[in-house]
Amino acid sequence: MAEQNPKLKRLVALLLGWFAHNARDLPWRRTRDPYAIWVSEIMLQQTQVKTVLPYWERWMRELPTIQAAAKASPEKIHKLWEGLGYYTRVRNLQKAARQIVAQQNANLRSCRRQGNESQTKKESETPHVVSYKFPDNFGDVLALPGIGRYTAGAICSIAFNQPTPILDGNVIRVLTRIFGIGENPREKKTNARLWQLAEELVGRAVPCPPRRGRDTTSYHSLLNQSLMELGALVCTPRQPQCPVCPVKKLCVAFRENRVAKLPNLGRRTAPTARRFIAFVIERNGKFLVRQRPAGIVNAHLWEFPNVEIAPNQCSSPAKRDKSAHYFRRKSQSRLTSAATVQEPDWEIIRAAKRFGITTPVLKPLCTVKHSITRYRIMLEAWRIKLGGRSSTTPKILGTRRARPSKNSGVWLSPAKLDSLALTAAHRKILRHLQTRSQ
Ligand code: SF4
Repeated sequence: MAEQNPKLKRLVALLLGWFAHNARDLPWRRTRDPYAIWVSEIMLQQTQVKTVLPYWERWMRELPTIQAAAKASPEKIHKLWEGLGYYTRVRNLQKAARQIVAQQNANLRSCRRQGNESQTKKESETPHVVSYKFPDNFGDVLALPGIGRYTAGAICSIAFNQPTPILDGNVIRVLTRIFGIGENPREKKTNARLWQLAEELVGRAVPCPPRRGRDTTSYHSLLNQSLMELGALVCTPRQPQCPVCPVKKLCVAFRENRVAKLPNLGRRTAPTARRFIAFVIERNGKFLVRQRPAGIVNAHLWEFPNVEIAPNQCSSPAKRDKSAHYFRRKSQSRLTSAATVQEPDWEIIRAAKRFGITTPVLKPLCTVKHSITRYRIMLEAWRIKLGGRSSTTPKILGTRRARPSKNSGVWLSPAKLDSLALTAAHRKILRHLQTRSQ
């Protein structure tokens, strides 16, 4: 590494100079509040800046402090996160906020006991704390739920200007290209080398020349942000802007024409197709929805009853004929052209029967296509309107509860549905439903 020292020094200077003129004006860059920076970093995991912007602003408006995040109801935090996906992030964020609050309350109680100040107060009383402090020690930050080495490094460098390295997808791409690293960055040895490079770079950042209106003292913070920003704006996965790149003269991949080959992430897992059928069941102007239980993907979010079926449309021509016959015989309703699938196949009929839905009047509503990790998901929504006195009671309805509860189905008005946190795909179904009924 010693022979690279001059290159590292030059690289740091180029990155800082470029960032001073090209940094995007992002709201979380206008603050040093570690809580605000922490929220932004968690939201930005797997998510683009333009998507995060309105979510971050709304979150900070509604829950501006660690204490507010700790005290918020699960419904509130899920609603604020609705659409961002990867909901474990928000649950961990709240768990960490509660941990910080509990720890500082315990410390305060202990101080009061030692100082004999607590004699007039009960042991269990929550002490009055004006504001809770986000930890400024890397080890303490790393120990919080949902915070890994990258996030801890980002928070400590950006909020406290500590020389803590960061290595995420953007930084890996930038470093493997600049240093011409052809090995797979997921391999232990190569990953360790990249962390080492990131650490050397952030450690070499020195105070910048004073610049009017610009923060030039947070040099460790600026260096880390410049690496992320270069990866986001210039050294992008596809069609990187090498001709205008500030570090092109130092970039091995550019010099050796290997940019498209780096980073070498090995062979990607082939995408897997999955098919879900959702039933939008209406009775007396209300719709049946249920809450996903804890411990599964999208836990605590709401959805229309749905089931996964085989990805192929119909398992056999005989079943396809049977399905067509069933609907010709039992339903006079004309299927609209709003859905990509015009007629329910046998798999859909079987899925409907699993829910105890025997009415033949299934109308196509919409098809939502989306991707989660390697899964390419197709969600077909079918609408069913039950008569006011219909004897059909879908099986997911255990009881007629007044309040929504886990796993049970409840009938809710469209306005009430709107106020719940729905999964992104089911939110699209609801929007489609609202648009069609206007
Ligand atoms: Fe990335 Fe091209 Fe710049 Fe090298 S020259 S760092 S490949 S944008």
